[in-house]
Amino acid sequence: MTDTSTKQYATAKAAPTTIAAAAPLKITAVKAYFQRVEERPRVLVSVETDAGIVGWGEAYNHGPDKAYGPILDYFFPLLEGEDPRRVTFLHSKMMHIGRFPPGALGMAAIAAIDHALWDIAGKANGLPVYQLLGGNVRDQIRVYATAIYHPHPDEAVPLLMGMNEKYGIDAFKLSPYRVDPYSARWGLVCKAAGEYFRDLRARLPEHFEIAFDAHAVIQEQAHAVQLAQALEPYEPMFFEEPMRPEHMPVWGRLKAKLNVPLATGESLYNRFEFLALLQEGGADIVQPDIAVVGGLTEMRRIAEVADAHFVPVAPHNPMGPLATAHNLHFAAACPNFKILEYKVTNDCPWIKDPYLPVGGHLQLRPDRPGWGVEIDTNVLKVDDYVHWERQAYVKPDGSTAYS
Ligand SMILES: [Mg+2]
Repeated sequence: MTDTSTKQYATAKAAPTTIAAAAPLKITAVKAYFQRVEERPRVLVSVETDAGIVGWGEAYNHGPDKAYGPILDYFFPLLEGEDPRRVTFLHSKMMHIGRFPPGALGMAAIAAIDHALWDIAGKANGLPVYQLLGGNVRDQIRVYATAIYHPHPDEAVPLLMGMNEKYGIDAFKLSPYRVDPYSARWGLVCKAAGEYFRDLRARLPEHFEIAFDAHAVIQEQAHAVQLAQALEPYEPMFFEEPMRPEHMPVWGRLKAKLNVPLATGESLYNRFEFLALLQEGGADIVQPDIAVVGGLTEMRRIAEVADAHFVPVAPHNPMGPLATAHNLHFAAACPNFKILEYKVTNDCPWIKDPYLPVGGHLQLRPDRPGWGVEIDTNVLKVDDYVHWERQAYVKPDGSTAYS
């Protein structure tokens, strides 16, 4: 018998105990590029370095998107000359210049910069971003597809089956509204929603997961409960954001009355707001948006707050394929991740190699540094901005409402 212990000890002893100092790296520019995905504007942000490494991020499309140019110019003096690999330091620095919260646009700009910094950190170290986060806890990322909002079942069934056949996706999200929720008698809104879901269940494979997004437009708590009860017999994956997010105690009271999983969080900005929601017992699933909350740096903190309440994370992700890449790396390293929202996109020339689902999952790219995608900078030379702004709903009495 051969004694290998001496040899093993010698091997371990030979492992280096010091490393060469990392080569200096300094931020030299932050730039915005106005592009689109189909008919919606998308803002890409690059952070450039003196070593030629460029990192990429995508800002949330709150509107007005043209504001991002001046906001990035405002942040640049804070970043110029700094080492982009100090991601948490620079994220804190951007947050700390404001005594007041930076707001939706400020947070989205910080998110885009944060993501460009993570991309650089990965590329400079020759690692995928998820490897900088402690490595992957899962091998692939399950997605659900948000279908067009309320297609007739004759349209919805082939649409969902088509995505299933092409990408293996077996989880979907639709709108519950088959009649106008602002003007119809509420009982009819609920009746139509229940019949719609029953019809889909009868015509789609039994294992499909189907969620419904009520889009924060219900104004009476009892109505939210009624709608959830209409969907309940057909077992939704979750019932999303029936009401506005601002008043946290409502969410605890609401969830206590529901027998379906309640999901919310796309309009919350930070771990403190999620903590307030969860302390009220206000969600079964949280849905932070990585491009809203200030980026991966804050997203991980939110996930840990949720984990401490035994609540999983299903990220809101309606932006473009670069935001999907940010989410993929977050999800890869997040123990309490559940499922990622995903939009099938057929027209996005600015990214060469978007992550596409296989078997309903996005696959990690362990051989690609940073986000693992390549932006086509030739395409970015042409400003492809398209104006879009959300419209308020005008109710039958002439007053307005969230849409
Ligand atoms: Mg939503």
